[in-house]
Amino acid sequence: MSDHAEPSGSHFIKSIIAEELAAGKRKVVHTRFPPEPNGYLHIGHAKAICLNFGLAEEFGGRCNLRFDDSNPLTERQEYVDSIREDVRWLGFDWEDREFYASDYFEQLHEWALDLIRKGKAYVDDLTADEIREYRGTLTRPGRDSPHRDRSIEENLELFEAMKRGDFPEGSKVLRAKIDMASGNFNMRDPVMYRILHAEHYRRGKEWAIYPTYDFAHGQSDSLEGVTYSLCTLEFEDHRPLYDWFIENLEIFPSRQIEFARLNLSHTVLSKRKLKKLVEEGHVSGWDDPRMPTLSGIRRRGYPPAAVRDFCNRIGVAKADSRVDLALLEHCVRQELNRSAPRRMAVLDPIKVVIENYPEGQSEELEAINNPEDESAGKRKVPFSRELWIERDDFMEDPPKKFFRLGPGREVRLRWAYFITCNEVVKDEVGKIVELHCSYDPETRGGQAPDGRKVRGTIHWVSAEHSIPLEVRLYDHLFTKDDPDQSDRADKGEAGKGEADQGQGGGGFLDNLNHDSVTINTNAQGEPSLAEAAPGQRFQFERRGYFCADSKDHSAGHAVFNRTVTLRDTWAKIQKRS
Ligand code: ATP
Ligand code: MG
Repeated sequence: MSDHAEPSGSHFIKSIIAEELAAGKRKVVHTRFPPEPNGYLHIGHAKAICLNFGLAEEFGGRCNLRFDDSNPLTERQEYVDSIREDVRWLGFDWEDREFYASDYFEQLHEWALDLIRKGKAYVDDLTADEIREYRGTLTRPGRDSPHRDRSIEENLELFEAMKRGDFPEGSKVLRAKIDMASGNFNMRDPVMYRILHAEHYRRGKEWAIYPTYDFAHGQSDSLEGVTYSLCTLEFEDHRPLYDWFIENLEIFPSRQIEFARLNLSHTVLSKRKLKKLVEEGHVSGWDDPRMPTLSGIRRRGYPPAAVRDFCNRIGVAKADSRVDLALLEHCVRQELNRSAPRRMAVLDPIKVVIENYPEGQSEELEAINNPEDESAGKRKVPFSRELWIERDDFMEDPPKKFFRLGPGREVRLRWAYFITCNEVVKDEVGKIVELHCSYDPETRGGQAPDGRKVRGTIHWVSAEHSIPLEVRLYDHLFTKDDPDQSDRADKGEAGKGEADQGQGGGGFLDNLNHDSVTINTNAQGEPSLAEAAPGQRFQFERRGYFCADSKDHSAGHAVFNRTVTLRDTWAKIQKRS
């Protein structure tokens, strides 16, 4: 929870930038959000998006959207499209500054040649395993490759042949010639280029060699004139390498500043793990409403303003922490309380028959759409002799503190009348099937002229007018606060590609919550819900916030996702601490 220590909205990156601007060290704030299009964005990315676009906005600067697409094996146009949609959904605009690292391949290749000519890069024939073995350990310095001292001419020739596609994958790489004894592994002659006979989703088969993330990322920032290159902590140890490239290439120096990545309780924030959930069918797709992806939470009904509010509240710190999902849900409730129109829906219906209400008659009652927002106006709700109410709003033998319906008790039907329960009808196994009640016509609108009070108000729908709803109730995707608890294998993961392979066993999958979704097809909603547009959000009074499913909802088949319940667990957590 230490991650939201600075409620003022100020944080260390802002302070650094303000100081540098004041001292004249930098003149503009130019940031970028640099996703790799190898998966869908998640709520952790929202933190990076809000930070980069937010700082640019605050300091009157610019923020680019740049796709860091230097790995043809994992990247796809589908991911580019989803990322663009998600950033826009969050409310940010990169204007005409949409860039691609793959557009820099020519320039990066030129720079590689430049380093070879300066005697600072060489072609190595060692295999990946040998390179790892030669690299040494934390306590043992690395050894020089036998090919480290090739002549500049030979290196130029070999690199050209690599580019032509003369060699098989894995047979050669281009490495920076730095220091095999460096205390920083990243400086022990890191790989700059590898051979991949693969098709790139944008460049096709033009290239047989591809720059590593480490050789592409910093220079891409530099090319774009990015002044502040903000990234997560795992890149701290890469900074000396990025600075080395910038110095030796004599190009524009961006300043890299690292911040802690967002971890959220009861979920995983790693594209690789999310991909696994999708590919192994643990969820229905990247946009499954249980997923922490932006497309998932959008479908679930989280408003973008709530996500931005959350990102502001958690702040930006240098120390890793795990934020409780309850805080995000709290932000969602606050926003929806302001903006979501109220409707009545009964999730577990039991029939009420108003015996003194004439058969075949009905009327329309007036209901307020949103008590928090007068401009939301009013609507008409039909009332008739037979109604649905929630099964748990009735108790045959109620305890003292139960203020809802019971035999001989009177309650208020929201926006309607007082009713009293006269008779409980059961089936042959003793299950309650119907409640016979009477209503007081004098209490229309919910007030008794004689001033008599009732202790409870319950929601209802008219059985004749209501529409059936499919309601999907979601719970945490993982049972544990930290689903990785038994899977620490990928700690310290950094960079892309290579570091991502062969790790992250099933560990987190052992903590999947197998009851994370309940599909209820018995619910009944007031008729106006038939007109809900896909993606439209509501508060179902007393039941929670719901959103018409963007894929499956239609006028003939109403499908609602529960966005969040009404009960705010965040307030409780705060009180305890
Ligand atoms: P993942 O680990 O999920 O694969 P990534 O870092 O590999 O994420 P990128 O596409 O490189 O994914 O992410 C783009 C930007 O978002 C990077 O600058 C990265 O540092 C930032 N980012 C990624 N995950 C988080 C997170 N959990 N919290 C904050 N920022 C993040
Ligand atoms: Mg990564």
